Amino acid sequence: MVSKVVFGRGCFNQLGDILAPKRLNTKAPFIYIVDDVFKGKSWLTSRIPLSYDDKIYYISANEEPKTSQVDELVEEIILTYKERPSGIIGIGGGTIMDLAKAVSIMITNDGESKDYQGWDLVKHPAIYHVGVPTISGTGAEVSRTTILTGPERKLGINSDFTPFDQVFLDPELTKDVPKDQWFYTGMDCYVHCIESLNGTYLNSFSQSYGEKALELCKEIFLSDTLTKDESEDKLMMASWHGGMSIAYSQVGVAHAMSYGLGYLLGIKHGVGNCIVFEHLEAYYPKGVAMYKAMRKKHNITIPQGICADLSDKEFDIMIDVALSLEPLWENALGKQWKKTITRGKLKELYLKM
Ligand code: NAD
Ligand code: ZN
Repeated sequence: MVSKVVFGRGCFNQLGDILAPKRLNTKAPFIYIVDDVFKGKSWLTSRIPLSYDDKIYYISANEEPKTSQVDELVEEIILTYKERPSGIIGIGGGTIMDLAKAVSIMITNDGESKDYQGWDLVKHPAIYHVGVPTISGTGAEVSRTTILTGPERKLGINSDFTPFDQVFLDPELTKDVPKDQWFYTGMDCYVHCIESLNGTYLNSFSQSYGEKALELCKEIFLSDTLTKDESEDKLMMASWHGGMSIAYSQVGVAHAMSYGLGYLLGIKHGVGNCIVFEHLEAYYPKGVAMYKAMRKKHNITIPQGICADLSDKEFDIMIDVALSLEPLWENALGKQWKKTITRGKLKELYLKM
């Protein structure tokens, strides 16, 4: 779990005070990995407290993080600075937070980041790392994974060293998120709740967080009573609780199939989950009905026909990726899942998307 968290509008202003005692020495910089959507946005960047050799890397979140990108960034940091950095601070959405987590791990662990995709393969603690979400829903701010696309698979570095040491939950930072993106990433949280609460791995720990996150999602996406500020505050907490819920259970069918879309077609996580969830009535009837009501209420368009021109070989790649995520299927359908989920069934579903 994340050991320290501050919450509240404007809490981002505490960054300097909270980081100062963590500076190892004047030659050991803080490295900021910041979504390049904030480049030139001084309302945010002027509050990043740079001193000594501290540096900001602006990184695009147009594509999800790759293992090669992590390795390049780590090499650049190691070659540029004589000392190991004092810390890595990721400011952005799931893409940037995952990158920050992975970089902090790879600074202290040998080899390439692809070698650590899986469960509990990390040998040495990461350096101090801090997460500052600027869009809500993924739960990446609280999770023990960092999802990376590698040469062979899209899979997280799941480890006890992955969670942030410190998180800043400042809902004000999400004020300019475009509406479609707000919905896609928000639905990631909603799908986390549905998949966790309907999974066979469910336990009281996961349930208590999942139910709270689902209640918040209903309020945010279906009621008309919230102000913009209240809605932002609540979505940030829904994301946190949704992430906590899957920390002790698993996601399910939508995530398994969305990983396939992400790996082959580069479809991003949030919108990918929506594309898949549209067609999962058979697995999550109530969850899908409520999702559709939310989509209609906010007049959101979901891409269609994305699998129309794929070859058999491409379907096979997506199906291989989806089926390799065994814990997700087992959570969704139980230990005997292989009896009901066939390659043909997955192809049929992908063809609808
Ligand atoms: P994202 O980080 O990919 O960002 C989506 C878009 O929103 C980008 O264009 C970004 O520039 C923009 N954006 C972000 N904050 C903004 C702001 N305040 N104002 C305006 N624009 C802003 O989106 P995401 O959905 O948060 O993250 C998706 C990534 O998270 C995927 O790579 C996925 O694999 C990962 N993920 C990780 C976990 C985990 O537990 N580690 C869980 C779920 C998803
Ligand atoms: Zn997700």
